Amino acid sequence: MINIAIDGPSGAGKSTIAQAAAKRLGYLYVDTGALYRSLGLHALRCGADPGSAEQVVPLLPDAHLTMRHVDGEQRVFLGDDDVSEAIRTPEASMASSAVSAIPAVREFLLDVQRDLAKKNNVIMDGRDIGTVILPDATYKIYLTASDEVRAKRRMLQLQEKGIEQPYEEVLADIRQRDYNDTHREVAPLRKADDAIEVCTDDLTLEESIQAVLDIVSK
Ligand code: C5P
Repeated sequence: MINIAIDGPSGAGKSTIAQAAAKRLGYLYVDTGALYRSLGLHALRCGADPGSAEQVVPLLPDAHLTMRHVDGEQRVFLGDDDVSEAIRTPEASMASSAVSAIPAVREFLLDVQRDLAKKNNVIMDGRDIGTVILPDATYKIYLTASDEVRAKRRMLQLQEKGIEQPYEEVLADIRQRDYNDTHREVAPLRKADDAIEVCTDDLTLEESIQAVLDIVSK
């Protein structure tokens, strides 16, 4: 199977770019952030503090997470509930970042991710795909952009979903998540030594997708 790992900080455009590239290549797109977001949402719904391992770990056996692909689009379910939209709120974003620092949470999601990559040609995006989940991925890409550019893009994305959040707040959330993701002890966000870095600051969406496809076709 061909596995393409795309890692990078929040808002670098990973999911939009990876999804479009997967469609053109006919590969399965796997958004691993959605898994952490679902567990973050699950913790919030259960009234737990998403940053507390003591409170979150006992909730894991009841988190019946499934990923279903409908027309190439990934939907995530918590039990029978399609949470694909609910996991995109600012609260769920912060909760996902908090639960993702808990080692048992990362362990819980490891097999789901590896299993998908074993059975399919995938483009998988996340924070630790090239470093931990798929260290032998066929291609590894590290997608970045400056924090200001990422905050502007994220704000527009939220607006499209009807969520209004001031720019300064979006920027602060992005910086906070960057800090959490790069400073946690388990599987912190970092570029794999053999990953190719692509900065999308000055690239249009189409150019960014092309940059990924160029790496794969070489
Ligand atoms: O990519 P996205 O912003 O949807 O991810 C939500 C959160 O899940 C991130 O802030 C990060 O803390 C966590 N995450 C992770 N490892 C991944 C994917 C996401 O820790 N592979």
